[in-house]
Amino acid sequence: MRRVIDSHVHMEGLGDADAVIGRAKEAGVDAVVAVGGNVESSAYALGLAERHQGYVYPGIGVHPSEVLKVDHGEALRFVRENAGKVALVGEVGLDYAYPFAKAEEVRESMRVLYSGLLEVAAEERLPVAVHSRSAYRDSLDILRRYDVPGAVFHWYDGPLETLRLILDSGFYVSATPAAEYSKGHKAVLAEAPMDRILVETDSPVHLGRLGRRSEPADVWLTVHALAGIKGMEPGEVAGIATRNTENLFRVGA
Ligand SMILES: [Zn+2]
Repeated sequence: MRRVIDSHVHMEGLGDADAVIGRAKEAGVDAVVAVGGNVESSAYALGLAERHQGYVYPGIGVHPSEVLKVDHGEALRFVRENAGKVALVGEVGLDYAYPFAKAEEVRESMRVLYSGLLEVAAEERLPVAVHSRSAYRDSLDILRRYDVPGAVFHWYDGPLETLRLILDSGFYVSATPAAEYSKGHKAVLAEAPMDRILVETDSPVHLGRLGRRSEPADVWLTVHALAGIKGMEPGEVAGIATRNTENLFRVGA
């Protein structure tokens, strides 16, 4: 049985991947879900998964921050062509908080791309990892139009009202190291039942308290913060979150 899985990592941002994976293994992290944010980083995740079979599980997607930079047709083609090799479609979604996303036409472009990616996920029977910052309700409403086999609202820190709809729809949320300090994220994790929470680092996101970027070995920071919120033992939290990740992404035994 696995001890813990980091369910959301941007491996291309971490430099020496083999060293990072070595440290994760030493720390008792038994698998890593490597998401993609554009064609290049998705291809990187696929390559890494080939070299670390049974340890790195790849996701392919287009992050909303890339909406103006990628060729949408090419990105959708890439996801479709590689759907058979991946554990999920992700990271995909909407983000209205970026300065460049103030214009309605940019937001519409995000929604069109997100919808296209969800359509592929539904056709290929792949679960999705959704980025929904400042676009929580739109991200959910669009997702519900597609018959995807499952979804996680990654690092969800939005309204509790929308959280309830997310949970009612059968979807998951994920906890990140922000569970140590973010009021909104903590409120979500207190409200969501443990059997709907995954744990992750979103590496290489900077860890302010430690003054360095994160890597998968730091998923234990998330586990400990979440255990504190839930009043549970860290080992128990890690076990349940790991089972949730295995159920959602079908990362295999
Ligand atoms: Zn991410």
